[in-house]
Amino acid sequence: MKDTNCIFCKIAAGDIPSNTIYEDEEFRVILDLAPASKGHALILPKEHCADIYEIDAEVAGRAMKLAKKLAMHMTDVLGCEGFNILQNNHEVAGQTVFHFHMHLIPRYKNAKNNDILMWTHETFSEEEMAEIRDSLQYRQ
Ligand code: 5GP
Ligand code: ZN
Repeated sequence: MKDTNCIFCKIAAGDIPSNTIYEDEEFRVILDLAPASKGHALILPKEHCADIYEIDAEVAGRAMKLAKKLAMHMTDVLGCEGFNILQNNHEVAGQTVFHFHMHLIPRYKNAKNNDILMWTHETFSEEEMAEIRDSLQYRQ
């Protein structure tokens, strides 16, 4: 299903031009319009889904597999020293385009904005940590 109001649906379908570095039946990978670093790319599933809550687990798995392959390839070509794979969900988490996408962000030692992906820390007491741990116990 495509969402006719969704810009990434249109880009993924090729209806809006993009700097595409990879395409198959399921995904298109494009350069980000406002890159955090040289080579910053986005993996877009062609099928519309808003976020991690909506995406089919198998599709998400294949997207991560593709991210692994592209990280190897992009590091090889760009000579970057590190790599972030990032995926935002909902506005509060920084999502601005509501079509699932994975950011592939090459990182370079002396880049001017190397602090962009850092965060400050919150502190929880030992009791709070135990409560959080207990509440998050998960079994498949
Ligand atoms: P989010 O903040 O939702 O995780 O990431 C959205 C990303 O999409 C941003 O990094 C933004 O620069 C990028 N972006 C937004 N619109 C376009 C577009 O039309 N074309 C491309 N190539 N990237 C876009
Ligand atoms: Zn879409």
